[in-house]
Amino acid sequence: MKLKHVRPYQLRDATENSRPLLIPAGCIETHGPHMAIGHDTIIVEEICQRIADQIEVLIAPSFDYGPTGYALGGPEDGTIDPDYAAFGTYVKSILRNFLDMGFAKIYVIIMHQGMEAPLALTFKKAAAELTFEQVLAQGHPPGWWGDKDQMGKVGPIWGKIEVHPMILPTASPPAGGDHAGYNETSFLMATRPELVEQDRLDDNAPWYCRQDEEKNSWTANVAHGQKMVDAVVKAWVEKIEGVS
Ligand SMILES: [Zn+2]
Repeated sequence: MKLKHVRPYQLRDATENSRPLLIPAGCIETHGPHMAIGHDTIIVEEICQRIADQIEVLIAPSFDYGPTGYALGGPEDGTIDPDYAAFGTYVKSILRNFLDMGFAKIYVIIMHQGMEAPLALTFKKAAAELTFEQVLAQGHPPGWWGDKDQMGKVGPIWGKIEVHPMILPTASPPAGGDHAGYNETSFLMATRPELVEQDRLDDNAPWYCRQDEEKNSWTANVAHGQKMVDAVVKAWVEKIEGVS
């Protein structure tokens, strides 16, 4: 179920029953001549929907405008790079709102630049800061950790917001990453085929489209994409249900 679609009683039902909130986080970034520039967010949205088809979760509206560092071209190429401080403030404020809504478990899911890059670190930093700030915001006194009785009243504070790569370790292989190459092109072909035009690939296509002689943007295919999607969704369902 999409958070945007719920009515208040459905939100209450979700939080009272500890349904997790999934947050797709990505960016707008050029992905070669053949792929949609929103791929890194779109593929997470598609995975989240498939998870929601199997288990009860809510899907938050996406964070579309993550940091890119203009590593793959500028605005004229279809890449956006936001003010990082402004993005960080915005991310933290919305995560705080989700905690205040009553979500006990929030998963931020990322398919862009890895877990040590600005996008993932922005979410991790906000989550870490909120972990402590929320305790005081709930009225617990400074020094709560040093006082055993107070610590008991606060309860467990860790792990309410987790930040993970979309491809969890148990899904790889078959799933793998790259930039607009064999894997990402296949991912999009399997989920949103109308957003891929392989016939736009020509001799001018960037190097990252041809990272491998055999496995490249030209040879990307639905079968490989579907295999990766199935593995990624299975890994997430197992993680959320506590199997792994
Ligand atoms: Zn990408």
